[in-house]
Amino acid sequence: MPIYEYECKECGFISGHLVMKPSDRRKLTCRSCEGKKLRKVMSRFAAHKTEAQRLDEYEPRNARGDSFYKDDRNIGLWAQKRAKEMGMDLGDSFKETLEKGRSRKILDNL
Ligand SMILES: [Zn+2]
Repeated sequence: MPIYEYECKECGFISGHLVMKPSDRRKLTCRSCEGKKLRKVMSRFAAHKTEAQRLDEYEPRNARGDSFYKDDRNIGLWAQKRAKEMGMDLGDSFKETLEKGRSRKILDNL
């Protein structure tokens, strides 16, 4: 899947976006402030990791600072990893909830 990371020029928030064609690029908005001035960034993490690799390498015992949660893909990894360890299938509804939770707006209320 052609998912690219874009940094918002207004607030600096980095979010991953699925870009299938050039017209998608122009419709992108920041998920934090809804600004439209985004620039493509190279991932601060290894560039071509799959969700599964990310999950495997994620270590819940490591200290997680604010920067960890600035990457909105990391939210929910803990729950996914625990579920995987216990052999649970969280199902599509969980993933949907997770996607909704992957926003700074919700994190700010924690
Ligand atoms: Zn923004």
